[in-house]
Amino acid sequence: MLDYLVVGLGIAGVSICEELEKKKKSYRVINDVSQVATLVAGGLYNPVILKRFTLAWKAEEQLKIAIPFYKSLEQKLNVQLDYKLPIFRRFASIEEQNLWFEASDKAGLSAFLSPKLLKNHNPYINAPYGYGQVLHTGRIDTALLLKSYESRLVSENKLLSETFDYNLLNIHREYITYQGLTVKKIIFSEGFSMKKNPFFKYLPLTSTKGEYLTVKAPELRESNAIKSSIFLIPWEKDVYRVGATYKWKDISNQPTEASKTELLQKLDSILKCDYEVIDQVAGIRPTVVDRRPLVGEHPVYKNVFALNGLGSRGVLIAPFASIQLINYIEQNGDIDVEMNIHRFTEKYFKGLHP
Ligand SMILES: Cc1cc2nc3c(=O)[nH]c(=O)nc-3n(C[C@H](O)[C@H](O)[C@H](O)COP(=O)(O)OP(=O)(O)OC[C@H]3O[C@@H](n4cnc5c(N)ncnc54)[C@H](O)[C@@H]3O)c2cc1C
Repeated sequence: MLDYLVVGLGIAGVSICEELEKKKKSYRVINDVSQVATLVAGGLYNPVILKRFTLAWKAEEQLKIAIPFYKSLEQKLNVQLDYKLPIFRRFASIEEQNLWFEASDKAGLSAFLSPKLLKNHNPYINAPYGYGQVLHTGRIDTALLLKSYESRLVSENKLLSETFDYNLLNIHREYITYQGLTVKKIIFSEGFSMKKNPFFKYLPLTSTKGEYLTVKAPELRESNAIKSSIFLIPWEKDVYRVGATYKWKDISNQPTEASKTELLQKLDSILKCDYEVIDQVAGIRPTVVDRRPLVGEHPVYKNVFALNGLGSRGVLIAPFASIQLINYIEQNGDIDVEMNIHRFTEKYFKGLHP
């Protein structure tokens, strides 16, 4: 009998596996490519909400956990994942500059918002009001992380690359069977596909589709991530990611012409050089009505768990949430009430059995 079965290997699944390894637990992972959020993500980590100049939920705490988490993955997988990348918030007006300086004085934020006004020195970017710099930011190469992690799991015989079939799951009090596997516990981390999971589909998970363009702009030579109405992220030599969009109705992973047009319009408002679009990707962010993750134990089945709802901040939240989930299961630790799925039990579950 194995200790765990993990369904879904995005950033949530990787973080769960890492915690299980720390606790020396045996596990298998089942993963398909029905969702691609982690694969297409910009991978930015940034503790500040750049629309309102406020600190993101528990961001300081999450950052302290995430940086060593990715460092240890770099060592384990022997790849570079964490690129320290300054994020420059482009100001659209004097008023915005003033709001930034007010915010940079506030407790909590002062560690992350530089109080200096930075002038734009790039002749190919339109930024007459300059920038404010967010501190302690960077980019995780999430696509490489997934690829390397998958290879490692394959070499250790821990990964089944297939679609999990919920109908084949048998849950008993002391153990769970699935096909030829017997495990003590199962953790679901399927991203937006959780909507198809009979155990957790009662949870109020919604979709926020996001799309990025990849553009080649040899003249631009910008080494900072620029945030205006979109992000312009240096990706590789002369290549930049531009995005992302936020769409709440379309649940497909297909790129659209409408999003391309929207992103190009926004890009043209800040760029003053030629560029060529070389790629477009799309994915679904698993989002929750109250913008907090979904972490915890099924209301009826005490050996069935979920980690989901990472929204647009999976890079920072996943390592933080997985520590709490595995500590809860293995050591009876607490799960932050704001992300514990029990906050929805009364309202949505009402004793329904899958
Ligand atoms: C365009 C875009 C840009 C983004 N940029 C950023 C960013 O810069 N910074 C940041 O922090 N976050 C960003 N995000 C958000 C981030 O990508 C998500 O928060 C995170 O990837 C969600 O991870 P997850 O593991 O929960 O889900 P996913 O990455 O969707 O992974 C779920 C996995 O489970 C698999 N699966 C599902 N159902 C089954 C099944 N039945 N059987 C087997 N396998 C199954 C899926 O195929 C997938 O591999 C972005 C998202 C998008 C779409």
